[in-house]
Amino acid sequence: MRDPYQVLGVSRDASGDEIKAAFRRLAREHHPDRNPGDDSAKERFQEINAAYQLLSDPDRRARFDRMGTDGPAAGAGGFAGGIEDWLSEILSGGFATASPPVSGDLREVLELEFVEAALGCRRTLSYERADVCQHCGGDGAERGARSVSCDTCGGAGRVRLGSLGWISLGMDRICPRCQGTGSIPSVRCSACDGRGLSVRRRNIEVTIPPGIEPGAAQTIVGGGSRVSPRGPAGDLELVIHVKPHARFRREGDDVLSDVEVAFTRAALGTEVEVETLHGMVTLKVPAGTQPGTVLPIRGKGVPHRFRSGAGDQLCRIKVRVPDGTKPQIERLIRQFDDELSNPSEVGLLGKLKELFSG
Ligand SMILES: [Zn+2]
Ligand SMILES: [Zn+2]
Repeated sequence: MRDPYQVLGVSRDASGDEIKAAFRRLAREHHPDRNPGDDSAKERFQEINAAYQLLSDPDRRARFDRMGTDGPAAGAGGFAGGIEDWLSEILSGGFATASPPVSGDLREVLELEFVEAALGCRRTLSYERADVCQHCGGDGAERGARSVSCDTCGGAGRVRLGSLGWISLGMDRICPRCQGTGSIPSVRCSACDGRGLSVRRRNIEVTIPPGIEPGAAQTIVGGGSRVSPRGPAGDLELVIHVKPHARFRREGDDVLSDVEVAFTRAALGTEVEVETLHGMVTLKVPAGTQPGTVLPIRGKGVPHRFRSGAGDQLCRIKVRVPDGTKPQIERLIRQFDDELSNPSEVGLLGKLKELFSG
């Protein structure tokens, strides 16, 4: 892995805010969604993410600064468990373990219908996040409680870390119990048990732009959880899932569909009404069209994401074969078959017209 400071383009003494700002700027620029089909953008995006995971974690950053490596104890970053696990992880004072501190960033999957993703839509997303407790306003005190000295840090506001696995540490860290204030309430808030945070359901309106790709992600800055009542909220990453459509498939910005035509019509040429994302459209099927032929309808596909216009609808012609077990059809098909074997001067198409008109 490359030097994470170089990856983010920040100096060795950059503050947490500078690192976060650099990360957001680069992540936006190199987001795979913005660079469709560019594999190097994807790699670069992952590298930027990994560098940020390392530098935004004080323990991993300190270890890297001293040893030039992230060390064997580094976790993968992020948090895979549910939000209740996440909250108890923070609140149990996860600082004493070797696991990286949780970031407050959340990830939610938004499942869209095929047409919603293709044409864009507005959706209400309902999800849970940890936020400031409404009962105590985040200070963790029951109404009327006094302030007493924090029994975890003895009122110092910071706790000293002895060792972390095989590395001995001369570091201290903000006390997780009193959040560095040195005092705690004599009676804890009954709603949040003194944590200052509670898990609450939240509804937000999300605008999905036309042409979004399945698997694309959108970041809602500040839409994640709070790690501490006074700290900023993390980000919410929305990952787009798209349900398959019964008749449409998507290939880039083109929409593929099957159009069924009777074999006589394929031979003689016809017009058919075709369902598209943008309503019904008349498709001209030229005389002599073979099964499997793809006929495009220009501009009736998925709207382009970063430029004007839209892809095409690509109609693959499926030829419907008449049922030769029905006596009337059998008779006509046999005449037609004779004609194929012994073509007359009338010509095949003329004969066909004669057979099937009226
Ligand atoms: Zn509370
Ligand atoms: Zn304390």
